[in-house]
Amino acid sequence: MTVLYYNCSEIIQVEDAGRIYKRGEEMKDVAILHDAWMLVSDGKISAIGEGSYEHLNFEESINMKGQKLMPSFVDSHSHLVYAANREDEFAMRLAGKSYAEIAAAGGGILNSAAKMQLASEDELLEAAKSRLDALIKMGTGAIEIKSGYGLNQSAELKMLKVIRRLQAESPVSIKSTFLGAHAIPEAYKGKVDDYIDLVIDEMLPAVVEESLADYIDVFCEDGYFNLSQSMRVLEAAKAYGLPAKVHVNQFNSLGAIKPMVDLGAVSLDHLEVMNEEEIKYLAESQTIATALPGCSLFLDIPYTPGRQLIDQGAALALATDLNPGSAPSGNMALMIGLACSQMKLRTEEALVAATLNGAAAMELSEELGSLEIGKWANFIVIPSEFSMASIPYHMGHNLISEVYLKGEKVV
Ligand SMILES: [Zn+2]
Repeated sequence: MTVLYYNCSEIIQVEDAGRIYKRGEEMKDVAILHDAWMLVSDGKISAIGEGSYEHLNFEESINMKGQKLMPSFVDSHSHLVYAANREDEFAMRLAGKSYAEIAAAGGGILNSAAKMQLASEDELLEAAKSRLDALIKMGTGAIEIKSGYGLNQSAELKMLKVIRRLQAESPVSIKSTFLGAHAIPEAYKGKVDDYIDLVIDEMLPAVVEESLADYIDVFCEDGYFNLSQSMRVLEAAKAYGLPAKVHVNQFNSLGAIKPMVDLGAVSLDHLEVMNEEEIKYLAESQTIATALPGCSLFLDIPYTPGRQLIDQGAALALATDLNPGSAPSGNMALMIGLACSQMKLRTEEALVAATLNGAAAMELSEELGSLEIGKWANFIVIPSEFSMASIPYHMGHNLISEVYLKGEKVV
């Protein structure tokens, strides 16, 4: 089936020269076509251009009536599969308890883990599906989802199986990440190395055996896993062919940036706390730097130094970190707004970070993340009265009138 979308006042392609990400200065360039059309064959973009479309062959044509097309958002870091929301803990925090006190009282990740161990695969799938439907309406067309609330082998595998089922049933492109080392289970307090042994010797081989993960992740942080424990997990996974996407430098710098870049991490995520040397090292590497501004907003912690990273040449991505404890919003338009208002990005830079560079952080940017020939027709439609600048300006307000994934209208 070949469909022509015509009469678009703009098609914001983001990229038009096949680059798989943009870094530094390049992030200011967003390719835009005016008075434009796009031809979609079997879900993929087969032609795109400005002005006359008389020469094209198509079976169906859709008049976009002056609206604007842009790529759907790519959320390259989320914890979408979880058992329960944690409003109660939020209320505790508002009543004066710190994140550490809530965790010490059995809250935090361990609270999510306890509920996860009780939930069935079907219950988790249904809850995740309804969350994902809400994200699709807000323009998310690809998402990475982590395990990490299981913290034992059967619950971690259960989470990963739910992610694989979502992948099979959803029009959204999904990548799966094994985050067995997300927090220290109660039984392993004071015996963290033993838990790392369990992750490496038992959980990881089982995950690989069933092909349940595309990536490995670790929470490398004081009170969680130190640098050498984190590196052990990442290196073991690398030997199985699982590349790294890692939680680092959220509250402290443990010196992880250089060894993880050198290991070939696809992305390093969080990065709220970085010294000059780390910014420079990451900015000059092939690793995507992923900022999670929703987490900074919710926890009231510093924002990732996105401006400095881009000025030093980094390929920066934006993601939501959607999770029940520290980042309950999956709204990518809000992340773009925060990146502009708090991290001092330009609109163009934030848009590149939320689309093409996010796709690169999931190794999907050869098939999505921009509107270019050969890529999936994953796009959102915004009414003609809005512009690219309206997205950060409206701070998460949903401006989207229609969403298409793989050429199918889903909203
Ligand atoms: Zn996270």
